[in-house]
Amino acid sequence: MLDRSRKKKVYSKKIKRLRRGIVITVVAACLIPTCICVILSVRYDRLNAKYKQSTADLEWYRQRYGSELSILSAVQPDVNEDNVPDAEAGGFEQDYADVDTSGALNPEDIEGTRYVYLTFDDGPSIYTEEILDILKENDVKATFFVCGKPDAKYVDAYKRIVDEGHTLGMHSYSHKYGEIYSSLDSFKEDFDKLRIFLYETTGVWAKYYRFPGGSSNAVSKVDIKELENFLEGTDATFYDWNISAKDDKAGNTKESIYANIVDNVPKFKHCIVLMHDAADKRSTVDALPDIIRDIKAMDDTVIVPITDNTLPVQHIK
Ligand SMILES: [Zn+2]
Repeated sequence: MLDRSRKKKVYSKKIKRLRRGIVITVVAACLIPTCICVILSVRYDRLNAKYKQSTADLEWYRQRYGSELSILSAVQPDVNEDNVPDAEAGGFEQDYADVDTSGALNPEDIEGTRYVYLTFDDGPSIYTEEILDILKENDVKATFFVCGKPDAKYVDAYKRIVDEGHTLGMHSYSHKYGEIYSSLDSFKEDFDKLRIFLYETTGVWAKYYRFPGGSSNAVSKVDIKELENFLEGTDATFYDWNISAKDDKAGNTKESIYANIVDNVPKFKHCIVLMHDAADKRSTVDALPDIIRDIKAMDDTVIVPITDNTLPVQHIK
């Protein structure tokens, strides 16, 4: 009798354990697939949204450029002479606006840190690598307002600018004043072409612009305000300069370039320095180490690249 009752208890315990096991299994069998379904559907929705966005972007580019630019593949070197600014032959128009520095701050009015932004227009060139070496040796970051040069020999220069922490700015694709400034549409076309080219080459969606000749150039047939409005709509900001190396002026030397920059830096708290990275600007490269050394030696002065926090200097207000 006693033996039977013990057996009964043992069976009862086993049945309970078995029942609990079945319930847990059923609940788990329902919950796990449900969770997986929820996670997968959320991921599906996100990917689908991204896919639709990129398809729309691609369609926009296709409509705009047709087969001119290859959006999905790597950059195809395009050595069409029409697309390559004639820097090597010294063919850039050299009509930069002169800056009146008479309104510069008196040095004694300057408080706090002085920020100096070294900027190089027109590159890449045969000197870009050397400029980058000098900047690296001196642990300085700069800003390069580049043009569109799809020649394979320049691809590494664009990449190196980005990889070494410098700011990649835009300075028109063709640098042909006659084309860029002939109408708002041709300005837009040139701008988009450069931005996409730089994105394909470096992965950077550039957002800083320097007008060829500056915003105060006397060449543009389009009101510069219209071009400004366009830039604003594309989330790009343009930067002119308040100090010029004048390395595009006839008769410039290593010494004159040095003096044009280093003598003027003390007049401003916020210095945007215009220099050129071009095949006919050897003197700029020669002057650069001394320029950097002597600016760094000034009290409370730092050399920095243009970022979103950089107050623009703009000739046209
Ligand atoms: Zn230029």
